[in-house]
Amino acid sequence: MPVAPPAPIQLLDLPAQHAPLQAELNAAAAICLHEAAFIQGPAVGQFAAELGQYLGGPHVVPCANGTDALQLALLSLKLPAGAEVIVPAFTYVATLEAAAVLGLRPVPADVMPGTFNLDPQAVAAALTPRTGAIMAVHLFGQCADLQALRQLADQHGVSLIEDNAQAIGATFQAEDAATWVAGTVGEVGTTSFFPSKNLGGFGDGGALFTRDAERADYLRQLANHGQTRKYHHQHIGLNSRLDTLQATLLRVKLPHLPVWTAARQRVAARYDALLAGLPGVAVPARDPRSTHVFHQYTLTIADEPGRRDALQQFLAARGVPTAVYYPLPNHLQPAYEYLGYRAGQFPVAERLCRTVLSLPIHPTLTDEQVAYVAAQVRAGLE
Ligand SMILES: *Cc1c(COP(=O)(O)O)cnc(C)c1O
Repeated sequence: MPVAPPAPIQLLDLPAQHAPLQAELNAAAAICLHEAAFIQGPAVGQFAAELGQYLGGPHVVPCANGTDALQLALLSLKLPAGAEVIVPAFTYVATLEAAAVLGLRPVPADVMPGTFNLDPQAVAAALTPRTGAIMAVHLFGQCADLQALRQLADQHGVSLIEDNAQAIGATFQAEDAATWVAGTVGEVGTTSFFPSKNLGGFGDGGALFTRDAERADYLRQLANHGQTRKYHHQHIGLNSRLDTLQATLLRVKLPHLPVWTAARQRVAARYDALLAGLPGVAVPARDPRSTHVFHQYTLTIADEPGRRDALQQFLAARGVPTAVYYPLPNHLQPAYEYLGYRAGQFPVAERLCRTVLSLPIHPTLTDEQVAYVAAQVRAGLE
């Protein structure tokens, strides 16, 4: 087996993804620069309408980034200071940062070892009379248990927020046979157009989703200094708008998202076929009710000290870049020490931080490259 890839392998290859669209992107950008309507230009509303259509009809409120979207979602709930917000113990820091920065209290709940998503039983155990919201994250591209989480939120009279930065376009089969679209099941859903996301912009960007027209208006105001019209401020808001230039370029990319998602799913299916049953490694578990849009393809390596890190080095030496999302759980980060949690309180999340390894997955990865990556993973585990 050769120890150099058939062609250089990248974790993320935006130039390759953009190459076929380059002329169209350049033309759209040139018009935008010429028109000079940089803030709240027509492309922003057009992009919001097109994304709403793609997601099956929620209102879409664009904003400056995915972290602001989470903050705006929480602001729209008007929770009292110190209210508790249940968050996954295994997620990107932004999920709980948004709550913390608003003076709300992030309350981690442990996740499930196979899907990496919130464990509804842990959420049920974390609910208190002070809980204001449950924040679900559809981690790596697969829906959290929306059925159970929606039910828990309704039973306890709290709101559900979906952090859908990683799972745009994923769907969930509800018990009543309805198809739910990730990000549109909670009172508010959020997403990010950070360049590496499945629908990435050319800089920062984000959006909120809601099926409630009144809440959409409120969110739109909150994202623009709380103003109802220019210089009339009804609420304390944020300056968090999606640039016209970003909306312009995202409009070019959006129609290609289904094809890119299908390409990611094909790569994942090939990894599955080539790696399933390999001792000492688990391929990402699927919830049969959810589609998976594979923002990441994340292996779990048997929990022996240093094994995951050794495999990562072995792969790097053979031209296979990998990443660890995430190496340190948020409850053990210095910034969140004040919450008072200790190592051992969220054992699944803590173990995942030692055992997960994400392989390259993007729409332009070739079959040969995928086969090479899988062969090197096998070799590295022998
Ligand atoms: C990327 C991401 C965010 C933050 O998005 P930004 O646009 O970078 O602010 C929040 N939550 C999750 C799960 C993410 O992956």
